Amino acid sequence: MSPDRRILKRLAEVCPGRVKVAEPLAPFTTWKIGGPAQWLAAPQDLEELRRLLALLTGMGRPWHILGRGSNVLIGDRGVAGAVIYLGPPWSWIRVRKRFRHTVHLEVGAGTPLPAMVRYGLRHGLTGLEFLAGIPGSAGGAWAMNAGSHGREMGEVTLALALVAADGQRTRPGRKALAFGYRRLDLDPGSVIVGGVLRAGLGSKTEVARQVQELLRRRKKTQPWQEPSGGSVFRNPSGDSAGRLIEAAGCKGWARGEARVSEKHANFIINRGRARARDVLSLMAAVRQRVYEHSGVLLEPEVRLWGCTLPEPVRRPGSSL
Ligand SMILES: Cc1cc2nc3c(=O)[nH]c(=O)nc-3n(C[C@H](O)[C@H](O)[C@H](O)COP(=O)(O)OP(=O)(O)OC[C@H]3O[C@@H](n4cnc5c(N)ncnc54)[C@H](O)[C@@H]3O)c2cc1C
Repeated sequence: MSPDRRILKRLAEVCPGRVKVAEPLAPFTTWKIGGPAQWLAAPQDLEELRRLLALLTGMGRPWHILGRGSNVLIGDRGVAGAVIYLGPPWSWIRVRKRFRHTVHLEVGAGTPLPAMVRYGLRHGLTGLEFLAGIPGSAGGAWAMNAGSHGREMGEVTLALALVAADGQRTRPGRKALAFGYRRLDLDPGSVIVGGVLRAGLGSKTEVARQVQELLRRRKKTQPWQEPSGGSVFRNPSGDSAGRLIEAAGCKGWARGEARVSEKHANFIINRGRARARDVLSLMAAVRQRVYEHSGVLLEPEVRLWGCTLPEPVRRPGSSL
Protein backbone atom coordinates (compact mmCIF):
# COMPACT_ATOMS: atom_id res chain seq x y z
CA MET A 1 0.00 0.00 0.00
CA SER A 2 1.35 3.45 -0.92
CA PRO A 3 2.06 5.87 1.97
CA ASP A 4 -0.82 8.10 0.83
CA ARG A 5 -3.29 5.20 0.81
CA ARG A 6 -2.11 4.23 4.27
CA ILE A 7 -2.72 7.76 5.51
CA LEU A 8 -6.15 7.84 3.89
CA LYS A 9 -7.03 4.58 5.67
CA ARG A 10 -5.97 6.05 9.02
CA LEU A 11 -7.85 9.32 8.35
CA ALA A 12 -11.00 7.35 7.51
CA GLU A 13 -10.66 5.43 10.80
CA VAL A 14 -10.49 8.71 12.71
CA CYS A 15 -13.35 10.44 10.79
CA PRO A 16 -15.49 7.57 9.46
CA GLY A 17 -17.43 8.57 6.34
CA ARG A 18 -16.19 12.13 6.54
CA VAL A 19 -12.97 12.07 4.51
CA LYS A 20 -13.03 12.74 0.78
CA VAL A 21 -10.17 12.39 -1.67
CA ALA A 22 -9.40 15.01 -4.35
CA GLU A 23 -12.51 16.96 -3.40
CA PRO A 24 -12.90 20.24 -5.38
CA LEU A 25 -12.69 23.21 -3.02
CA ALA A 26 -14.18 25.91 -5.29
CA PRO A 27 -17.74 25.30 -3.97
CA PHE A 28 -16.43 25.87 -0.43
CA THR A 29 -15.23 29.39 -1.24
CA THR A 30 -17.09 32.65 -1.88
CA TRP A 31 -14.82 33.25 -4.91
CA LYS A 32 -15.92 29.87 -6.36
CA ILE A 33 -12.29 29.27 -7.34
CA GLY A 34 -9.81 26.58 -6.41
CA GLY A 35 -8.62 23.06 -7.17
CA PRO A 36 -9.04 19.97 -5.01
CA ALA A 37 -7.91 19.12 -1.49
CA GLN A 38 -5.77 16.02 -1.37
CA TRP A 39 -7.96 15.01 1.58
CA LEU A 40 -10.97 16.94 2.80
CA ALA A 41 -11.88 15.93 6.34
CA ALA A 42 -14.95 17.16 8.18
CA PRO A 43 -14.56 16.07 11.82
CA GLN A 44 -17.83 16.23 13.64
CA ASP A 45 -16.70 16.63 17.22
CA LEU A 46 -13.78 17.58 19.39
CA GLU A 47 -12.54 14.03 19.83
CA GLU A 48 -12.39 13.44 16.08
CA LEU A 49 -10.63 16.75 15.54
CA ARG A 50 -8.03 16.03 18.23
CA ARG A 51 -7.31 12.57 16.86
CA LEU A 52 -7.12 13.95 13.32
CA LEU A 53 -4.57 16.61 14.29
CA ALA A 54 -2.49 14.16 16.31
CA LEU A 55 -2.50 11.73 13.36
CA LEU A 56 -1.48 14.35 10.79
CA THR A 57 1.21 15.70 13.13
CA GLY A 58 2.54 12.20 13.72
CA MET A 59 2.70 11.56 9.98
CA GLY A 60 4.26 14.93 9.21
CA ARG A 61 1.42 15.95 6.88
CA PRO A 62 0.30 19.59 6.56
CA TRP A 63 -3.26 20.86 6.95
CA HIS A 64 -5.37 23.95 6.43
CA ILE A 65 -8.47 24.91 8.36
CA LEU A 66 -11.40 25.97 6.24
CA GLY A 67 -14.31 28.01 7.56
CA ARG A 68 -16.67 29.53 4.99
CA GLY A 69 -13.87 30.18 2.51
CA SER A 70 -14.49 33.93 2.27
CA ASN A 71 -10.88 34.97 2.69
CA VAL A 72 -8.86 32.34 0.85
CA LEU A 73 -7.58 31.97 -2.69
CA ILE A 74 -6.94 28.31 -3.47
CA GLY A 75 -4.57 27.44 -6.33
CA ASP A 76 -5.95 25.72 -9.45
CA ARG A 77 -3.99 22.57 -8.66
CA GLY A 78 -5.43 22.45 -5.18
CA VAL A 79 -3.65 21.85 -1.91
CA ALA A 80 -1.43 19.05 -0.69
CA GLY A 81 -2.27 17.45 2.63
CA ALA A 82 -5.52 17.77 4.52
CA VAL A 83 -8.11 20.51 4.49
CA ILE A 84 -10.10 20.36 7.70
CA TYR A 85 -13.57 21.78 7.27
CA LEU A 86 -15.37 23.01 10.37
CA GLY A 87 -18.95 23.11 9.14
CA PRO A 88 -22.43 22.73 10.67
CA PRO A 89 -21.49 20.44 13.61
CA TRP A 90 -19.34 23.33 14.84
CA SER A 91 -22.11 25.89 14.77
CA TRP A 92 -23.73 26.95 18.06
CA ILE A 93 -24.56 30.07 20.05
CA ARG A 94 -25.40 29.66 23.75
CA VAL A 95 -25.72 32.08 26.62
CA ARG A 96 -22.94 31.37 29.09
CA LYS A 97 -23.64 34.15 31.60
CA ARG A 98 -26.23 36.86 31.72
CA PHE A 99 -25.74 40.12 33.62
CA ARG A 100 -27.95 43.19 33.90
CA HIS A 101 -26.52 45.00 30.86
CA THR A 102 -24.32 42.41 29.17
CA VAL A 103 -24.28 38.80 28.13
CA HIS A 104 -21.44 36.32 27.55
CA LEU A 105 -22.04 34.03 24.59
CA GLU A 106 -20.37 30.73 23.76
CA VAL A 107 -20.00 30.50 20.01
CA GLY A 108 -18.79 27.56 17.92
CA ALA A 109 -16.10 28.16 15.31
CA GLY A 110 -18.34 26.96 12.48
CA THR A 111 -21.13 29.43 13.27
CA PRO A 112 -21.81 31.59 10.21
CA LEU A 113 -21.43 35.29 10.98
CA PRO A 114 -24.84 36.05 9.40
CA ALA A 115 -26.37 33.63 11.95
CA MET A 116 -24.64 35.57 14.73
CA VAL A 117 -26.02 38.82 13.40
CA ARG A 118 -29.54 37.31 13.25
CA TYR A 119 -29.14 36.07 16.83
CA GLY A 120 -28.12 39.57 17.89
CA LEU A 121 -31.17 41.03 16.15
CA ARG A 122 -33.51 38.54 17.81
CA HIS A 123 -32.18 39.27 21.29
CA GLY A 124 -31.33 42.96 20.95
CA LEU A 125 -27.59 42.39 21.44
CA THR A 126 -25.35 45.37 20.91
CA GLY A 127 -21.70 45.35 19.88
CA LEU A 128 -21.96 42.64 17.19
CA GLU A 129 -23.62 44.79 14.52
CA PHE A 130 -20.30 45.36 12.76
CA LEU A 131 -20.38 41.73 11.60
CA ALA A 132 -23.38 42.45 9.35
CA GLY A 133 -22.54 41.59 5.76
CA ILE A 134 -19.29 39.70 6.50
CA PRO A 135 -19.84 36.23 5.02
CA GLY A 136 -17.35 34.21 7.12
CA SER A 137 -17.57 31.89 10.11
CA ALA A 138 -16.80 32.78 13.72
CA GLY A 139 -13.57 30.73 13.51
CA GLY A 140 -12.43 32.57 10.37
CA ALA A 141 -13.41 35.89 11.93
CA TRP A 142 -11.27 35.14 14.98
CA ALA A 143 -8.35 33.91 12.87
CA MET A 144 -8.52 37.03 10.69
CA ASN A 145 -9.63 39.41 13.48
CA ALA A 146 -12.39 40.42 11.08
CA GLY A 147 -13.78 43.89 11.46
CA SER A 148 -15.53 46.81 9.89
CA HIS A 149 -16.48 50.38 10.71
CA GLY A 150 -13.78 50.65 13.37
CA ARG A 151 -14.81 47.53 15.34
CA GLU A 152 -13.13 44.14 15.26
CA MET A 153 -13.55 40.63 16.59
CA GLY A 154 -10.72 40.89 19.16
CA GLU A 155 -12.58 43.69 20.99
CA VAL A 156 -15.62 41.56 21.76
CA THR A 157 -13.73 38.34 22.55
CA LEU A 158 -13.26 37.17 26.14
CA ALA A 159 -11.65 33.77 25.49
CA LEU A 160 -11.03 31.18 22.80
CA ALA A 161 -11.08 27.39 22.85
CA LEU A 162 -8.14 26.00 20.86
CA VAL A 163 -6.82 22.62 19.88
CA ALA A 164 -3.06 22.58 19.27
CA ALA A 165 -1.28 20.63 16.54
CA ASP A 166 -0.61 17.76 18.98
CA GLY A 167 -4.32 17.54 19.88
CA GLN A 168 -3.99 19.30 23.26
CA ARG A 169 -6.78 21.70 24.30
CA THR A 170 -6.21 25.20 25.69
CA ARG A 171 -8.52 28.06 26.60
CA PRO A 172 -6.58 31.35 26.48
CA GLY A 173 -8.29 34.44 27.86
CA ARG A 174 -8.39 37.81 26.12
CA LYS A 175 -5.04 38.99 27.55
CA ALA A 176 -3.20 35.96 26.19
CA LEU A 177 -4.55 36.47 22.66
CA ALA A 178 -2.44 38.51 20.22
CA PHE A 179 -5.02 40.08 17.91
CA GLY A 180 -3.61 42.50 15.32
CA TYR A 181 -4.86 44.16 12.16
CA ARG A 182 -6.64 41.32 10.31
CA ARG A 183 -4.69 38.64 12.12
CA LEU A 184 -4.43 36.60 15.28
CA ASP A 185 -1.08 35.07 16.17
CA LEU A 186 -1.56 31.42 17.05
CA ASP A 187 0.88 28.54 17.26
CA PRO A 188 1.19 26.96 13.79
CA GLY A 189 -1.48 24.37 13.14
CA SER A 190 -3.74 25.48 16.02
CA VAL A 191 -7.46 25.24 15.45
CA ILE A 192 -10.02 27.56 16.99
CA VAL A 193 -13.02 25.45 17.98
CA GLY A 194 -15.04 28.12 19.73
CA GLY A 195 -14.90 31.15 21.96
CA VAL A 196 -16.69 33.47 24.32
CA LEU A 197 -17.97 36.85 23.16
CA ARG A 198 -19.30 39.75 25.17
CA ALA A 199 -22.34 41.68 23.92
CA GLY A 200 -24.51 44.38 25.40
CA LEU A 201 -28.23 44.02 26.08
CA GLY A 202 -30.00 46.81 24.22
CA SER A 203 -33.00 47.72 22.15
CA LYS A 204 -33.98 45.38 19.32
CA THR A 205 -35.19 48.33 17.27
CA GLU A 206 -31.89 50.16 17.62
CA VAL A 207 -29.83 47.03 16.78
CA ALA A 208 -32.03 46.46 13.70
CA ARG A 209 -31.59 50.08 12.65
CA GLN A 210 -27.79 49.84 12.87
CA VAL A 211 -27.60 46.51 11.04
CA GLN A 212 -29.83 47.83 8.24
CA GLU A 213 -27.68 50.93 7.93
CA LEU A 214 -24.43 48.92 7.75
CA LEU A 215 -25.89 46.56 5.13
CA ARG A 216 -27.18 49.49 3.11
CA ARG A 217 -23.69 51.10 3.10
CA ARG A 218 -22.07 47.81 2.18
CA LYS A 219 -24.42 47.21 -0.75
CA LYS A 220 -23.76 50.71 -1.98
CA THR A 221 -19.97 50.48 -1.84
CA GLN A 222 -19.12 46.79 -2.46
CA PRO A 223 -19.87 44.29 -5.27
CA TRP A 224 -22.26 42.56 -2.93
CA GLN A 225 -23.78 40.00 -5.26
CA GLU A 226 -20.73 38.92 -7.22
CA PRO A 227 -18.36 36.11 -6.17
CA SER A 228 -15.27 37.56 -4.51
CA GLY A 229 -12.84 36.99 -1.66
CA GLY A 230 -13.51 40.33 0.05
CA SER A 231 -10.65 42.80 0.34
CA VAL A 232 -7.74 41.42 -1.63
CA PHE A 233 -4.99 43.61 -0.14
CA ARG A 234 -4.41 44.87 3.39
CA ASN A 235 -4.79 48.57 4.01
CA PRO A 236 -1.34 50.11 4.43
CA SER A 237 -0.88 52.20 7.55
CA GLY A 238 -2.86 55.44 7.28
CA ASP A 239 -4.29 54.73 3.82
CA SER A 240 -6.71 52.43 2.05
CA ALA A 241 -5.75 49.82 -0.52
CA GLY A 242 -8.95 50.56 -2.46
CA ARG A 243 -8.08 54.26 -2.73
CA LEU A 244 -4.53 53.50 -3.90
CA ILE A 245 -5.71 50.98 -6.51
CA GLU A 246 -8.34 53.36 -7.84
CA ALA A 247 -5.85 56.25 -7.95
CA ALA A 248 -3.44 54.04 -9.91
CA GLY A 249 -6.15 53.55 -12.53
CA CYS A 250 -6.68 49.80 -12.05
CA LYS A 251 -10.48 49.77 -11.70
CA GLY A 252 -11.93 47.50 -14.37
CA TRP A 253 -8.61 45.75 -15.12
CA ALA A 254 -9.17 42.11 -16.02
CA ARG A 255 -7.32 38.83 -16.55
CA GLY A 256 -9.48 36.07 -17.97
CA GLU A 257 -12.74 36.29 -16.07
CA ALA A 258 -11.22 37.92 -12.99
CA ARG A 259 -11.84 41.65 -12.84
CA VAL A 260 -11.05 44.53 -10.49
CA SER A 261 -14.49 45.66 -9.34
CA GLU A 262 -15.74 49.00 -10.66
CA LYS A 263 -17.58 49.45 -7.38
CA HIS A 264 -14.70 48.83 -4.97
CA ALA A 265 -11.16 48.66 -6.34
CA ASN A 266 -9.90 46.33 -3.58
CA PHE A 267 -12.32 43.59 -4.66
CA ILE A 268 -11.54 41.19 -7.50
CA ILE A 269 -14.68 39.55 -8.78
CA ASN A 270 -15.12 36.24 -10.57
CA ARG A 271 -17.26 36.94 -13.61
CA GLY A 272 -17.93 33.28 -14.23
CA ARG A 273 -15.04 30.97 -14.84
CA ALA A 274 -12.04 32.80 -13.39
CA ARG A 275 -9.12 30.61 -12.34
CA ALA A 276 -6.77 31.23 -9.44
CA ARG A 277 -4.01 32.01 -11.93
CA ASP A 278 -6.16 34.84 -13.40
CA VAL A 279 -6.68 36.33 -9.94
CA LEU A 280 -2.97 36.01 -9.07
CA SER A 281 -1.91 37.58 -12.34
CA LEU A 282 -4.34 40.45 -11.78
CA MET A 283 -3.19 40.91 -8.17
CA ALA A 284 0.44 41.03 -9.36
CA ALA A 285 -0.35 43.58 -12.09
CA VAL A 286 -2.32 45.80 -9.68
CA ARG A 287 0.39 45.56 -7.05
CA GLN A 288 3.06 46.51 -9.57
CA ARG A 289 1.04 49.44 -10.90
CA VAL A 290 0.25 50.77 -7.41
CA TYR A 291 3.91 50.51 -6.47
CA GLU A 292 4.96 52.47 -9.55
CA HIS A 293 2.23 55.04 -8.99
CA SER A 294 2.47 55.66 -5.25
CA GLY A 295 5.56 53.81 -3.98
CA VAL A 296 3.38 51.63 -1.74
CA LEU A 297 3.84 47.86 -1.93
CA LEU A 298 0.48 46.29 -1.16
CA GLU A 299 0.40 43.04 0.79
CA PRO A 300 -2.32 40.42 0.29
CA GLU A 301 -5.06 40.17 2.89
CA VAL A 302 -6.53 37.00 1.38
CA ARG A 303 -4.76 33.82 2.43
CA LEU A 304 -3.11 31.99 -0.47
CA TRP A 305 -3.32 28.19 -0.36
CA GLY A 306 -1.39 26.15 -2.90
CA CYS A 307 -0.42 29.24 -4.88
CA THR A 308 1.90 32.23 -4.60
CA LEU A 309 1.82 35.82 -5.72
CA PRO A 310 4.59 36.65 -8.21
CA GLU A 311 7.13 39.07 -6.80
CA PRO A 312 7.01 42.63 -8.19
CA VAL A 313 9.55 43.49 -10.87
CA ARG A 314 12.59 45.22 -9.42
CA ARG A 315 13.06 48.58 -11.01
CA PRO A 316 16.41 50.39 -11.24
CA GLY A 317 16.91 52.45 -8.09
CA SER A 318 13.84 50.95 -6.42
CA SER A 319 14.01 49.94 -2.78
CA LEU A 320 12.13 46.71 -3.41
C1 LIG B 1 -18.15 40.12 0.18
C2 LIG B 1 -17.14 40.01 1.31
C3 LIG B 1 -17.08 41.02 2.27
C4 LIG B 1 -16.15 40.94 3.31
N1 LIG B 1 -16.11 41.95 4.22
C5 LIG B 1 -15.23 41.88 5.24
C6 LIG B 1 -15.16 42.92 6.23
O1 LIG B 1 -15.91 43.89 6.20
N2 LIG B 1 -14.25 42.81 7.22
C7 LIG B 1 -13.40 41.74 7.30
O2 LIG B 1 -12.58 41.70 8.23
N3 LIG B 1 -13.42 40.74 6.38
C8 LIG B 1 -14.32 40.78 5.37
N4 LIG B 1 -14.35 39.77 4.44
C9 LIG B 1 -13.37 38.66 4.53
C10 LIG B 1 -13.88 37.43 5.31
O3 LIG B 1 -15.29 37.31 5.25
C11 LIG B 1 -13.45 37.44 6.76
O4 LIG B 1 -12.06 37.47 6.89
C12 LIG B 1 -13.98 36.19 7.51
O5 LIG B 1 -13.82 36.37 8.87
C13 LIG B 1 -13.27 34.90 7.08
O6 LIG B 1 -14.00 33.82 7.65
P1 LIG B 1 -14.08 32.41 6.91
O7 LIG B 1 -14.79 31.47 7.81
O8 LIG B 1 -14.65 32.58 5.56
O9 LIG B 1 -12.55 32.04 6.85
P2 LIG B 1 -11.79 31.23 5.71
O10 LIG B 1 -11.78 32.06 4.46
O11 LIG B 1 -12.33 29.86 5.59
O12 LIG B 1 -10.33 31.21 6.32
C14 LIG B 1 -9.59 32.40 6.46
C15 LIG B 1 -8.36 32.12 7.31
O13 LIG B 1 -8.77 31.80 8.64
C16 LIG B 1 -8.30 30.49 9.00
N5 LIG B 1 -9.33 29.84 9.79
C17 LIG B 1 -10.64 29.71 9.48
N6 LIG B 1 -11.29 29.08 10.47
C18 LIG B 1 -10.35 28.77 11.41
C19 LIG B 1 -10.38 28.09 12.66
N7 LIG B 1 -11.53 27.59 13.14
N8 LIG B 1 -9.23 27.95 13.34
C20 LIG B 1 -8.07 28.45 12.87
N9 LIG B 1 -7.97 29.11 11.69
C21 LIG B 1 -9.10 29.26 10.97
C22 LIG B 1 -8.07 29.78 7.68
O14 LIG B 1 -7.15 28.70 7.85
C23 LIG B 1 -7.56 30.91 6.82
O15 LIG B 1 -6.20 31.15 7.07
C24 LIG B 1 -15.27 39.83 3.39
C25 LIG B 1 -15.34 38.81 2.42
C26 LIG B 1 -16.26 38.90 1.38
C27 LIG B 1 -16.32 37.79 0.37
